[in-house]
Amino acid sequence: MRKIDETILKTAVEYIQENYHIEEYLKEFNMLDGAVAGGIDTVIVICVFHGNDSHPSLRVDKKRNLYKCFACKNDPKNPSGGNLPSFIAKYKRVVKEENVTYFTVIDELLRNDPVMQLKVGAKSIFVEGSITTQEIAKSNLKKSVSFKLKDSRPKTYLELSRKIRTSCKGDENVILTSIHLMESGMEPEKIYDMLFEDGKIIKRKDYSDEDLNDLMELE
Ligand SMILES: [Zn+2]
Repeated sequence: MRKIDETILKTAVEYIQENYHIEEYLKEFNMLDGAVAGGIDTVIVICVFHGNDSHPSLRVDKKRNLYKCFACKNDPKNPSGGNLPSFIAKYKRVVKEENVTYFTVIDELLRNDPVMQLKVGAKSIFVEGSITTQEIAKSNLKKSVSFKLKDSRPKTYLELSRKIRTSCKGDENVILTSIHLMESGMEPEKIYDMLFEDGKIIKRKDYSDEDLNDLMELE
Protein backbone atom coordinates (compact mmCIF):
# COMPACT_ATOMS: atom_id res chain seq x y z
CA MET A 1 0.00 0.00 0.00
CA ARG A 2 1.30 3.46 -0.88
CA LYS A 3 1.87 5.95 1.90
CA ILE A 4 0.10 9.28 2.21
CA ASP A 5 1.38 12.59 3.59
CA GLU A 6 -1.51 13.77 5.75
CA THR A 7 -0.61 17.47 5.60
CA ILE A 8 -0.39 17.42 1.81
CA LEU A 9 -3.64 15.48 1.67
CA LYS A 10 -5.43 17.96 3.93
CA THR A 11 -4.15 21.01 2.02
CA ALA A 12 -5.03 19.42 -1.32
CA VAL A 13 -8.58 18.63 -0.18
CA GLU A 14 -9.01 22.19 1.12
CA TYR A 15 -7.77 23.55 -2.20
CA ILE A 16 -10.12 21.31 -4.19
CA GLN A 17 -13.10 22.22 -2.00
CA GLU A 18 -12.37 25.93 -2.43
CA ASN A 19 -11.38 26.05 -6.10
CA TYR A 20 -13.18 23.26 -7.94
CA HIS A 21 -16.89 23.15 -8.72
CA ILE A 22 -19.03 20.07 -8.17
CA GLU A 23 -21.56 21.48 -10.67
CA GLU A 24 -19.03 21.07 -13.49
CA TYR A 25 -18.68 17.41 -12.61
CA LEU A 26 -22.45 17.01 -12.53
CA LYS A 27 -22.45 18.34 -16.12
CA GLU A 28 -19.53 16.17 -17.18
CA PHE A 29 -21.20 13.08 -15.68
CA ASN A 30 -24.54 13.95 -17.36
CA MET A 31 -26.27 14.09 -14.00
CA LEU A 32 -28.25 17.30 -14.51
CA ASP A 33 -31.09 15.71 -16.55
CA GLY A 34 -34.22 15.72 -14.41
CA ALA A 35 -32.53 17.77 -11.70
CA VAL A 36 -34.63 20.02 -9.49
CA ALA A 37 -33.66 23.02 -7.39
CA GLY A 38 -33.41 22.30 -3.68
CA GLY A 39 -32.98 25.85 -2.49
CA ILE A 40 -30.27 28.47 -2.90
CA ASP A 41 -27.03 26.76 -3.97
CA THR A 42 -28.61 23.31 -3.74
CA VAL A 43 -29.65 21.04 -6.60
CA ILE A 44 -31.27 17.61 -6.29
CA VAL A 45 -30.37 15.17 -9.05
CA ILE A 46 -31.20 11.57 -9.95
CA CYS A 47 -28.84 9.36 -7.95
CA VAL A 48 -26.73 7.12 -10.16
CA PHE A 49 -25.29 5.29 -7.16
CA HIS A 50 -28.21 3.26 -5.87
CA GLY A 51 -29.41 1.79 -9.13
CA ASN A 52 -32.98 2.64 -10.02
CA ASP A 53 -33.64 6.15 -8.82
CA SER A 54 -36.80 7.34 -10.54
CA HIS A 55 -36.98 10.77 -8.96
CA PRO A 56 -34.17 13.02 -7.74
CA SER A 57 -32.76 12.10 -4.34
CA LEU A 58 -29.09 13.08 -4.48
CA ARG A 59 -28.70 16.47 -2.86
CA VAL A 60 -25.74 18.58 -3.99
CA ASP A 61 -24.56 21.72 -2.22
CA LYS A 62 -22.94 23.60 -5.11
CA LYS A 63 -21.39 26.26 -2.91
CA ARG A 64 -19.78 23.93 -0.40
CA ASN A 65 -19.04 21.12 -2.90
CA LEU A 66 -20.81 18.50 -0.80
CA TYR A 67 -23.28 15.76 -1.76
CA LYS A 68 -25.61 13.43 0.05
CA CYS A 69 -28.12 10.85 -1.18
CA PHE A 70 -30.98 10.29 1.20
CA ALA A 71 -31.97 7.06 -0.54
CA CYS A 72 -28.49 5.51 -0.29
CA LYS A 73 -28.10 6.56 3.32
CA ASN A 74 -29.62 3.41 4.77
CA ASP A 75 -27.04 1.22 3.10
CA PRO A 76 -24.15 1.15 5.60
CA LYS A 77 -21.84 -0.58 3.12
CA ASN A 78 -22.43 2.04 0.47
CA PRO A 79 -23.22 5.36 2.15
CA SER A 80 -23.44 8.19 -0.37
CA GLY A 81 -22.22 11.52 0.82
CA GLY A 82 -19.10 13.56 1.20
CA ASN A 83 -16.93 16.14 -0.46
CA LEU A 84 -16.04 16.66 -4.13
CA PRO A 85 -13.19 14.10 -4.41
CA SER A 86 -15.43 11.57 -2.67
CA PHE A 87 -18.13 12.31 -5.27
CA ILE A 88 -15.73 11.90 -8.20
CA ALA A 89 -14.31 8.68 -6.74
CA LYS A 90 -17.78 7.26 -6.13
CA TYR A 91 -18.90 8.08 -9.67
CA LYS A 92 -15.82 6.53 -11.24
CA ARG A 93 -16.09 3.38 -9.12
CA VAL A 94 -19.83 2.81 -9.35
CA VAL A 95 -20.70 4.09 -12.81
CA LYS A 96 -17.46 3.79 -14.79
CA GLU A 97 -16.27 0.75 -12.82
CA GLU A 98 -12.80 2.29 -12.64
CA ASN A 99 -10.36 1.10 -10.02
CA VAL A 100 -10.00 4.38 -8.14
CA THR A 101 -10.15 5.44 -4.50
CA TYR A 102 -10.77 8.74 -2.75
CA PHE A 103 -7.01 9.15 -2.46
CA THR A 104 -6.07 8.29 -6.05
CA VAL A 105 -8.68 10.80 -7.25
CA ILE A 106 -7.15 13.57 -5.11
CA ASP A 107 -3.70 12.56 -6.30
CA GLU A 108 -4.74 12.70 -9.95
CA LEU A 109 -6.31 16.16 -9.52
CA LEU A 110 -3.09 17.34 -7.84
CA ARG A 111 -0.85 15.84 -10.54
CA ASN A 112 -2.82 17.65 -13.24
CA ASP A 113 -3.01 21.03 -11.54
CA PRO A 114 0.26 23.01 -11.38
CA VAL A 115 -1.42 25.83 -9.42
CA MET A 116 -2.56 23.41 -6.76
CA GLN A 117 0.93 21.90 -6.70
CA LEU A 118 2.38 25.33 -5.88
CA LYS A 119 -0.21 25.92 -3.18
CA VAL A 120 0.21 22.47 -1.67
CA GLY A 121 3.99 22.33 -2.11
CA ALA A 122 3.96 18.86 -3.61
CA LYS A 123 3.08 17.06 -6.83
CA SER A 124 1.57 14.03 -5.19
CA ILE A 125 -0.09 13.12 -1.91
CA PHE A 126 1.84 9.84 -1.92
CA VAL A 127 5.27 9.92 -0.30
CA GLU A 128 7.67 7.64 1.48
CA GLY A 129 7.84 7.65 5.25
CA SER A 130 4.31 8.76 6.08
CA ILE A 131 1.66 6.64 7.67
CA THR A 132 -0.81 4.68 5.61
CA THR A 133 -4.55 5.14 5.66
CA GLN A 134 -4.91 1.80 7.44
CA GLU A 135 -2.52 3.02 10.13
CA ILE A 136 -4.50 6.25 10.52
CA ALA A 137 -7.68 4.23 11.00
CA LYS A 138 -6.02 1.93 13.50
CA SER A 139 -4.44 4.77 15.47
CA ASN A 140 -7.86 6.46 15.69
CA LEU A 141 -9.30 3.32 17.21
CA LYS A 142 -6.34 2.81 19.54
CA LYS A 143 -6.72 6.37 20.78
CA SER A 144 -10.36 5.70 21.49
CA VAL A 145 -9.42 2.97 23.96
CA SER A 146 -7.15 5.20 26.04
CA PHE A 147 -9.77 7.92 26.41
CA LYS A 148 -12.60 5.66 27.45
CA LEU A 149 -12.19 6.23 31.16
CA LYS A 150 -11.47 9.96 31.12
CA ASP A 151 -14.35 11.51 29.21
CA SER A 152 -18.00 11.58 29.94
CA ARG A 153 -19.09 9.86 26.77
CA PRO A 154 -22.55 10.24 25.25
CA LYS A 155 -24.84 7.24 25.71
CA THR A 156 -27.39 8.22 23.07
CA TYR A 157 -27.32 9.66 19.54
CA LEU A 158 -29.15 12.71 20.87
CA GLU A 159 -26.44 13.42 23.44
CA LEU A 160 -23.79 12.76 20.80
CA SER A 161 -25.45 15.16 18.33
CA ARG A 162 -25.55 17.87 21.00
CA LYS A 163 -21.86 17.44 21.75
CA ILE A 164 -20.97 17.53 18.04
CA ARG A 165 -23.16 20.56 17.40
CA THR A 166 -21.60 22.57 20.20
CA SER A 167 -18.02 21.56 19.36
CA CYS A 168 -17.72 21.35 15.59
CA LYS A 169 -18.24 25.06 14.80
CA GLY A 170 -20.31 24.23 11.73
CA ASP A 171 -17.62 22.01 10.17
CA GLU A 172 -19.52 20.17 7.40
CA ASN A 173 -16.93 17.42 7.23
CA VAL A 174 -17.31 16.57 10.90
CA ILE A 175 -21.09 16.68 10.58
CA LEU A 176 -21.16 14.44 7.49
CA THR A 177 -18.71 12.02 9.10
CA SER A 178 -20.82 11.76 12.22
CA ILE A 179 -23.99 11.25 10.15
CA HIS A 180 -22.29 8.44 8.20
CA LEU A 181 -21.22 6.75 11.40
CA MET A 182 -24.62 7.09 13.05
CA GLU A 183 -26.27 5.66 9.95
CA SER A 184 -23.87 2.73 10.10
CA GLY A 185 -25.30 1.85 13.49
CA MET A 186 -22.03 2.36 15.35
CA GLU A 187 -22.55 3.02 19.07
CA PRO A 188 -22.62 6.70 20.12
CA GLU A 189 -19.72 6.19 22.54
CA LYS A 190 -17.53 4.72 19.80
CA ILE A 191 -18.35 7.55 17.41
CA TYR A 192 -17.53 10.01 20.18
CA ASP A 193 -14.15 8.35 20.71
CA MET A 194 -13.36 8.61 17.01
CA LEU A 195 -14.28 12.27 16.71
CA PHE A 196 -13.25 13.68 20.09
CA GLU A 197 -10.07 13.90 22.10
CA ASP A 198 -10.05 15.45 25.57
CA GLY A 199 -13.57 16.68 24.93
CA LYS A 200 -12.56 18.52 21.74
CA ILE A 201 -13.24 17.60 18.11
CA ILE A 202 -10.26 15.99 16.42
CA LYS A 203 -9.66 17.45 12.98
CA ARG A 204 -7.27 14.79 11.86
CA LYS A 205 -8.28 14.34 8.25
CA ASP A 206 -11.17 14.25 5.83
CA TYR A 207 -12.97 10.96 6.06
CA SER A 208 -14.02 9.42 2.75
CA ASP A 209 -16.49 6.63 2.14
CA GLU A 210 -13.56 4.22 1.91
CA ASP A 211 -12.06 5.41 5.18
CA LEU A 212 -15.34 4.91 6.91
CA ASN A 213 -15.64 1.43 5.47
CA ASP A 214 -12.10 0.72 6.67
CA LEU A 215 -12.94 1.99 10.16
CA MET A 216 -16.10 -0.08 10.30
CA GLU A 217 -14.26 -3.19 9.17
CA LEU A 218 -11.75 -2.68 11.96
CA GLU A 219 -14.51 -2.66 14.56
ZN1 LIG B 1 -28.58 7.15 -3.90
